[in-house]
This record gives sequence, C-alpha cells and structure tokens, in this order.
Amino acid sequence: MLGEPRDGRIVVVGASLAGLRAAETLRAEGFTGSLTLIGEETHPPYDRPPLSKQVLLGKVPADRTGLPQRRRLDADWKLGVRAGGLDPVGKRVLLDDGADVPFDRLLIATGTRARPWPHPDEAAMDGVFTLRTSGDAAALAARLAAGPRRVLVVGAGFTGSEIASACRERGLDVTVAERGPAPLVGALGGTLGELAAKLQRAHGVDLRCGVTVTALEGDGRLTGAQFSDGTRIDADIAVIALGAVRNTEWLAESGLAAGPRGVTCDAGCRAFDMYGIVTDDIFAAGDVARFPHPLFEYQLLSLEHWGNAVAQAEVAAHNMISTGPRRRPHLTVPAFWSSQFGLNIKSVGVPTFSDQVVIAQGSLKDARLVAVYGYRGRVTAAVSVNQARSLEYYRHLIETAAPFPPAPGAADQRESPVPVPSDVPDPKLLSHGPTVALTGHLPDRRLTVVQPAR
Ligand SMILES: Cc1cc2nc3c(=O)[nH]c(=O)nc-3n(C[C@H](O)[C@H](O)[C@H](O)COP(=O)(O)OP(=O)(O)OC[C@H]3O[C@@H](n4cnc5c(N)ncnc54)[C@H](O)[C@@H]3O)c2cc1C
Repeated sequence: MLGEPRDGRIVVVGASLAGLRAAETLRAEGFTGSLTLIGEETHPPYDRPPLSKQVLLGKVPADRTGLPQRRRLDADWKLGVRAGGLDPVGKRVLLDDGADVPFDRLLIATGTRARPWPHPDEAAMDGVFTLRTSGDAAALAARLAAGPRRVLVVGAGFTGSEIASACRERGLDVTVAERGPAPLVGALGGTLGELAAKLQRAHGVDLRCGVTVTALEGDGRLTGAQFSDGTRIDADIAVIALGAVRNTEWLAESGLAAGPRGVTCDAGCRAFDMYGIVTDDIFAAGDVARFPHPLFEYQLLSLEHWGNAVAQAEVAAHNMISTGPRRRPHLTVPAFWSSQFGLNIKSVGVPTFSDQVVIAQGSLKDARLVAVYGYRGRVTAAVSVNQARSLEYYRHLIETAAPFPPAPGAADQRESPVPVPSDVPDPKLLSHGPTVALTGHLPDRRLTVVQPAR
C-alpha cells in the first residue's frame, strides 16, 4: 500500500505466543524489512496451557508443546538473551550480553513470570516449584511421576486448581491452600467458586480455604508446611501458584508507562510514555499489555489469556505497518478456557466486572450450566461449565451491552433464574493474583510531574 511503512527495522522483545503471532502477521501483511525476535528463553516459542494439563498428566512431554510456525519468517532470532533496557530516543534495545539492537518500530511482548514464594530460603528448597516455563513443567512432571506422598498447592486460581486436578488424576494426595473463601472465586465470583470447592472436595482434594501458608518446612528438602490456623501437613512437593508478575523491569528507565500492572497502551496497542503521551513507534501486546476497553468503562484491562495474546499481537503487528485510519482497535471480547476435575470451563467477557450473576442455563447441581454476569443492569460476562455451545450467543449480548438479566427461554433451564450478588472478592483477600484485572491509573514513580501549560 502506498505510503505504508512496510520496510525498515522491526524488533520484537519476547519470543513467545504474542511475539511469534505478531511476527507472522507482519510478514503475512507484507512487511519486507528486517525482523528481529529477542527472547530470554532458549526454546523456540511454545504453548503454555498444556503445561498445567497434559504435561503434568504425563500425556505430553514438556518439550513437545512447540507452537506451530504458520509461515517462514525470515527473521533474526536472538534466543537465550534478555533485553535489559530500552533507549527510546536512540531507538535501541540494550541486551544483557552487552550488545544493542537498533529499531525503527518495537513490539514489547515480554509477558509475565510466576510470582515466587516470598521467602527465598524456603523457595530454594528441593521440592518447591512454580509453573510458567516448559522447564518448570518438565521438572514438576518428573517429580509427580515419581509418586510423592503429598503435594501442597499454594493458591487456588486457575493454574493452582489445574495442578491439583492433575495430581488427583494421577492418584496423588493433594492439599490446596487458598486465602480466599473458595477456589476460582477471584475470577468467577462466589457462586461458581462454591461449585469449584464442592467439586475439588468430591475429587478428594484436601481443600483449605480462608488460610495462608505461614512457613514451608525442611532442611534443604521440603518436608511440610504450616498454616495460619495453627495446623501443619507433611508434604514433599509444594507448587507455588500465586499468580504472575509482569516482565516490565527492563523498561524501568525507558520513560514508558510501564510498571507492575504492565505496559499501558492505547486500543491500537501503541505504548504510552509516563506522561500519558502515546508513542508512535513502540507497541505492546499479550500478557504484558494493559489497554482501555470501551465495554468496561474504558478502564485499563490486563489479561492473562491465550486468545488475547494472539488477537492483540495481530492488531499490534497490523498497526505497526499501517498509518492513520488504516489502523485497527483491539476490541475483542476477552475469552478464556480451563479444564479441571472433569470440567470444561469457558469464559467470555470479564466476570469480575459484575455486581450480579444468574444461572441462565443448566444447573449447579448437574455441574453443567451457563452463568451470566451483569453490571448495573447490562450483561458483561458469561461462563459455561461443560456447556460451551451457547457462549457465542452470550458474547453477542456482551458486545451489544444487552440488558441483565438476559431474557429467559433456554430449553434446558432447570433452576429459577434469579440473579444473586456475584460476590467477587477484593483481589487483596486472595492468595493468587488475578488473571484479569481492571485498574485505573497507578503512578509508579514520582517522576510523573504535571507541568502547567505555558
Ligand atoms: C501453566 C499455564 C497454563 C495456562 N493455561 C491457559 C488456559 O488454559 N487458557 C488461557 O487462555 N490461557 C492460559 N495460560 C495463559 C497463556 O499461556 C498466556 O496468556 C500466554 O502465554 C501469553 O503470551 P505472551 O506471549 O504475551 O507472554 P509469555 O507467554 O509470558 O511470553 C513472554 C516471553 O517473553 C520473554 N521475556 C520476558 N522478559 C524478557 C526480556 N526482558 N527480554 C527477552 N525476553 C523476555 C519470556 O521469557 C517469555 O518467553 C496459561 C499459562 C500458563 C503459564
């Protein structure tokens, strides 16, 4: 297209799902310039969702979840090297090995890492794991296969619950500790949290809610854990599933609006600088990005969703090589899935952006249902449990801000559809970080001084 920036140097930092999909889109849409992907991990891009599912079950080896590359990229891959800094004026990415990589346009796709156990000595003990990378999954799967006496999972968000499910499927004794009132409650609210708690216990999980783990015990090797209610257990494995930390430290001196909640960008994936001015050559996508969404009152949305990483990477790549009105907004309705304890859970919208929830189809008793969430009288999310078929319909209701509760009429309606409070707890009351967060402005540094206009 005439006048479109289809050449020059594009650098992508973060060589995983978002980075790869962006690179593919750049080439698919005609980018002919030089393309460099920088990734801290030594592996080519791989898929993370199977790590807490098929890999822990021993059904798929950890090194066999590589992401298919859908086209030849003709790219310079710099793997096994971390980007340690960004010079936005000189337009260079500074690598930890001392090299620097110049760019004309940059995509930040550095995602997140597992939040570590806060006590380094305890975290370093043999038997204490986190789960984010294929190396983590390989090590944990090998230890589960060796038949530990008891596994402790700290945090009952999606990842922690999936790990517990895999342990039970392997016939292992497992204790789950969660500070909040129920598993998954931070993502799905009270009604489905209660269902998740019932199912975990029915599958033999020793589920302890409303407690925290106060100490991991052992002398170089984990032997047990103590809880805030004064009880303790023996355990030879602990998996810390406390949520994720965004990989933004390398941007600390860059002048970008980057901090613990991610890299703030506009709906076109262009990063903001710390004064709130949008850059035109630096873009962000995937788990590391936070962006405004009109369906959720333009609050800044941070998502740890596979589908978002793909969709946002595609929009970012398109916009990196397009100008003006040809640029597109990233406005897809968030969507997520999880499988655990025989349940196939799918979510559209933002369930935590709600004040009420109603079981619109199916029933809690049968653990087969669609829960629809509303906020101030409009539909904002829907979650299906073993009933994904009708989610498309609810996606449409979310996109059109349809009135809540939705009109009855589903043939399989078995419970009276009476909305109840959605009971989404304050994330501070949970062990694990949220996989979806809607947040306002968070000045990270006092450098953000507002200068009066002259
Ligand atoms: C165990 C597990 C299970 C999951 N299950 C599901 C699921 O069922 N459904 C779902 O929707 N989502 C799921 N997810 C989430 C999904 O995998 C993420 O949303 C997705 O991986 C995000 O992709 P990304 O490319 O933005 O970030 P990431 O996959 O985090 O990749 C970022 C990459 O950047 C690299 N990097 C970081 N900092 C630097 C630096 N300074 N320099 C160079 N490289 C750097 C990292 O090493 C990493 O390779 C799961 C995630 C995990 C960990």
